[in-house]
Amino acid sequence: MSDTHPARKRILTGDRPTGKLHLGHYVGSHRHRLALQDQYECFFLIADLHMLTTKPDKADILAIADNGRAIVMDHLAIGIDPAKVTFYLQSAVHEVYELQLLLSSLVTVERLLQLPSIKDMATAANMEQIPLNLLGYPVLQAADILMPRAHLVPVGKDNESHVEITRQIARRFNNAYGEVFPLPDAFVVGGTLVGTDGQAKMSKSLNNAIFLSDDANTVTKKVMGMYTDPNRVRSDVPGTVEGNPVFIYHDVFNPDKAEVETLKERYRAGRVGDVEVKQRLATVLNDFLEPTRERRARYEADTGFVDELLYEGTLRAREEAKQTLIEAKKAMGLTGVWNRLSRAAEKRRKKSEPTAQGGAPAPAPAAVQAAAQSESVASGEAA
Ligand code: ATP
Ligand code: MG
Repeated sequence: MSDTHPARKRILTGDRPTGKLHLGHYVGSHRHRLALQDQYECFFLIADLHMLTTKPDKADILAIADNGRAIVMDHLAIGIDPAKVTFYLQSAVHEVYELQLLLSSLVTVERLLQLPSIKDMATAANMEQIPLNLLGYPVLQAADILMPRAHLVPVGKDNESHVEITRQIARRFNNAYGEVFPLPDAFVVGGTLVGTDGQAKMSKSLNNAIFLSDDANTVTKKVMGMYTDPNRVRSDVPGTVEGNPVFIYHDVFNPDKAEVETLKERYRAGRVGDVEVKQRLATVLNDFLEPTRERRARYEADTGFVDELLYEGTLRAREEAKQTLIEAKKAMGLTGVWNRLSRAAEKRRKKSEPTAQGGAPAPAPAAVQAAAQSESVASGEAA
């Protein structure tokens, strides 16, 4: 299997390391990763450079390692197979920064400013103005996607336009410099899960989330405190099922569809109390989470497993990234520029440098030598 033509098609997706994963992430994104891991070669990044676009504080940065570990562990707990996925830390793959810069001439500021997603992110982060890296978010995403030459990018609806930009950038690159990148397809996944408050989407910052790592008691407590139908003051008052988060969760997580229908009928007729519906939901969610708890316990018993997985994955991603960057720079002709320059300079240096007491010419400084060497070895270019 060569790097340029992997045997299986590739997926690139990831998470910003801002905290643990919750049921909303699972419904909107991660359950699809489970389904896709068998058909595709998967690259899942811990997108800490993306995090910096809205959370650049030192405290956020100091939390990257723990949040990154927690996210990888959440993946393993839901049944992602560590043998099938390359997990990596985005900021440790330096080629991605380089690729982003090279790609940035292929997209305009006007195009990026048109994207509602960028303004939405700025608003959500209470930013009055847009930092340059936030405007460039889709270009960094393009570098992430093109780095392993991914074919498919599972994204939420809000990020679909970013994959479109990646396609545009890849098309322009291939036209201008030569075929290097496959055009990736977006695979729009989703469904938004409402929070336990019933007011907004589940989000860790809104204190309305049930985390994949919550223990059974915590889940039960959160469910018993859930918002339901506010007009229902007693259990014999007919209730509304539509938009009621307790029933939304039953619909998503309760495998016994007949039971859900019966509960709905009884609720509408005022023949079941909120407590019973919630108790059933707590059981349903804990049944759903129990296998994830068992897997988590198994992985946690293997101290350092997640660190090693992220470490090995990052090394692997670096190798991929190096290959891609070399090909991109070669196609652009940048590698050749440096090679020609450095060879001419070395030739002249050899001729003109005074030799030490008539002996061999003084060697070039180590840094210059190393740089010249890595460029020509890497490029394999003769000219
Ligand atoms: P949070 O919103 O909890 O702070 P986050 O900021 O890490 O989490 P977002 O950036 O809001 O996550 O979303 C990242 C991706 O996770 C989204 O594209 C979406 O696929 C998924 N996601 C997050 N929250 C939900 C949700 N409540 N319902 C469905 N999908 C969600
Ligand atoms: Mg969010």
